[in-house]
Amino acid sequence: MAQDGFLPYPKGFATAAIHHAHDPENWNSMAVIPPIVTSTTFKQNGPAEYEKYDYSRSGNPTRDVLQAVLAKLDNAKYALAFSSGLGATTALLGMLSSGDHIVIGDDIYGGTNRLLNQVMARFNIKMTFTDLTNISNLEKSIEPNTKLVWLESPTNPTMKVVDIKAAAAIAKKHNILLVVDNTFLTPYLQRPLDLGADLTIYSISKYMNGHGDVIMGSIATNNEEIYQKLKFLQNAMGIIPAPFDCYQVNRGLKTLALRMQKHNENCRLVGEFLERHSKVEKVLHPGLPSHPQYELFKKQASGHSGTFSMYLKGGLEESRTFLKAVKVFTLAESLGGYESLIELPSLMTHASVPSDLRKQLGISDSLIRLSVGLEDPEDLIADLDQALKKLEE
Ligand SMILES: *Cc1c(COP(=O)(O)O)cnc(C)c1O
Repeated sequence: MAQDGFLPYPKGFATAAIHHAHDPENWNSMAVIPPIVTSTTFKQNGPAEYEKYDYSRSGNPTRDVLQAVLAKLDNAKYALAFSSGLGATTALLGMLSSGDHIVIGDDIYGGTNRLLNQVMARFNIKMTFTDLTNISNLEKSIEPNTKLVWLESPTNPTMKVVDIKAAAAIAKKHNILLVVDNTFLTPYLQRPLDLGADLTIYSISKYMNGHGDVIMGSIATNNEEIYQKLKFLQNAMGIIPAPFDCYQVNRGLKTLALRMQKHNENCRLVGEFLERHSKVEKVLHPGLPSHPQYELFKKQASGHSGTFSMYLKGGLEESRTFLKAVKVFTLAESLGGYESLIELPSLMTHASVPSDLRKQLGISDSLIRLSVGLEDPEDLIADLDQALKKLEE
């Protein structure tokens, strides 16, 4: 059962993750677990007369199984897998032409920011970054050449929640595509396409794979025309994942429902503990009633995942002391795996964000981001407790 007051968990999700597109009849061997097909090329019956596949960049049986599962879990008709989350973003931005304009939430993944500002800008892609928690900023930022609205919800690392339905309505009115980076919640906890978005994009490297051992990205959509364009770009730009990685991710998805329920539960317990702690200034956690957009969040999600942030009391010195003292949590970038991670965005994941923008967004040296894993919650809480005690010494 989902957390009180939130949307219910999606029906049939776990069954689809395990069985969809897995018919043994697909394979001559009748294999129940889809085989890893590593062949780069496929025999043709005559020149340009081939069955389903000709060359593995254009299409691969192991990748096709994964893509079918990814589409199903997002309640989408189509999904495509790419070599990384940023690879998926590159393909998506490949749909644009010189002079096109994008509206982007101001608090987005650092790598997306870098790709836009340091690469796409050179190709004359225009962009406006704005705080989309105030949805009227979206309407104000739209220009005649706007082709795309890009948002994350909750945002990274300050956990702001954007009203996806409202954003979709505005985008639709102006005939602009809405893209939601749903990496933080996965389709188990939030389904942006059902809320009106045109595309969802994922860093599969995080919760979707969940085991911290694959870099991959994906995009899902119900729009056939966009799908055909992206499928063309996946092949034309060569941004494809390896068959072995597709197999690994497909395996990881079998436990996505279970993992997300446990991340949600552990993360709430850890968040509540920190909220009560005298050395913690403030907790930013959309799954807790203290979050300023808790009511909105409940309307568009079935719960929160394992990632949230907090402000410690003090400054850089206190943050360093605390982060060096944790033992069960690992001080490292990334999120979404079974193992708990902790980091300091100002010096680590968000170091590439210009310092005045960091200041404006509240990414100070006392802002700490946690990715709560699947360990026993008592051990996680005890670990944070002993590390916080170091601040009293
Ligand atoms: C990690 C991440 C990305 C980039 O994905 P990669 O797989 O690392 O290329 C994009 N968006 C969000 C929200 C992320 O956390």
